[in-house]
Amino acid sequence: MDLLSEFDQRDFERVGRELHGFAAELFPICRSITGDGLRKTLAMIQERIPLQLSEVPSGTQVFDWAVPNEWNIRDGYIKVPGGERVVDFQKFNLHVLNYSVPVRSTMTLSELKPHLFTIPEHPDWIPYRTSYYQENWGFCLSHRQMLALEEREYEVVIDSSLEAGHLTYGEFYLPGQSTDEVLISCHACHPSLANDNLSGLTVATFLARLLAGKELRYSYRFLFVPGTIGAITWLAQNEKTVANIRHGLVLTCLGDSGPFHYKKSRRGNATIDRVAAHVLHHHGEGAQILEFSPNGYDERQYCSPGFNLAVGCLMRSVWGSFPEYHSSADSLEFIKPEKLAGSLQICTAIIHVLENNCRYRNLNPFCEPQLGRRNLYGSAGGNSPGTEVHARLWVLNLSDGEHSLLDIAEQSGLPFSVIQQAAAALLQGELLERIPESDQDFSVHAGFPHESAQRHN
Ligand SMILES: [Zn+2]
Repeated sequence: MDLLSEFDQRDFERVGRELHGFAAELFPICRSITGDGLRKTLAMIQERIPLQLSEVPSGTQVFDWAVPNEWNIRDGYIKVPGGERVVDFQKFNLHVLNYSVPVRSTMTLSELKPHLFTIPEHPDWIPYRTSYYQENWGFCLSHRQMLALEEREYEVVIDSSLEAGHLTYGEFYLPGQSTDEVLISCHACHPSLANDNLSGLTVATFLARLLAGKELRYSYRFLFVPGTIGAITWLAQNEKTVANIRHGLVLTCLGDSGPFHYKKSRRGNATIDRVAAHVLHHHGEGAQILEFSPNGYDERQYCSPGFNLAVGCLMRSVWGSFPEYHSSADSLEFIKPEKLAGSLQICTAIIHVLENNCRYRNLNPFCEPQLGRRNLYGSAGGNSPGTEVHARLWVLNLSDGEHSLLDIAEQSGLPFSVIQQAAAALLQGELLERIPESDQDFSVHAGFPHESAQRHN
């Protein structure tokens, strides 16, 4: 399957506009780790891909955690009695501390102040704050707005509910030839924040749409879950499925203008780590590969020692490293259509390598075969003849049944696609045979144990 040309043929600008447009549709919804905002978001994704929704009751034990009560909100404001709303949830959902318990009271500014959150260093931005596991209520506002509040009495209302209900998550399973799976996961719990993580939601949705209906080697599982508790819940309820996961990516912060970052899985040498590093290296825009650390997004759960899955995290700017992070400045203007499209392209390039990586055996291993006689000493594709011959020599030399195309690409320094084309030409020239699919073990890499050896089951 050639996912790369698939994407190239599509109008890059149009895809960017569509991704951004979808983010704009999702933007106004007040999402949280449970509740109707999350349901509505999943329903909108469901209009694009056949997502299966699961509802897990509050109180369900999931490893060391319990599914929390469900939170819903209708309204919230701080108002001058008889006057105007000075802080209004209806205008912007970040204004209410996410998971605020209901409040209906009149209080002075000094009584109110412990419940107000601002970012003094960015006086015009509104922070995004949550209090999921400790009952609290509060308002988030710009520092300038807070300084303008007069010392007087205010009417304070948060019309929310925090009651037994459900945690919702969405899952889309796309079967391939093998039951081995590639996991694509993103969090779906942030309210009006664009890069973190509408960018991940939209790119994952479009990636699923791109793969749907294709002949796939792997099966693909897309998860749209509330951060942390959603991933923990899914893992707790799908321990059998987990054993099929061979490679995985957490997608987040993929729409800003920063360079790509890939955070390795806890294993550090998993195929997905090598593929992501290879693709980003040849992408040419200067990407950074980060070692695993136990903070970040849901890779924390997938890479917890009991699971130790080969799941890395793909992002542009790293969470917490850009000032707009978790504030109203993480807006629809902060994410760019072309950056979203570029991120989708990187995802397809990574999957292209996973789908096409394989081993061959050189049928003429005693000295070099005479390429000229077989019309293999010149150019067949768009690359320079020198590069193509060079790639063929690499493939011939390393195709001993042990090295994969990814191994050869890494060792030669050539992009995977060039090595893949070389192998195709040599196969056609009857100089290679493909190792049967049943003997292709893409996760083995010289010197590293079989990836599944440490797998949880
Ligand atoms: Zn976040």
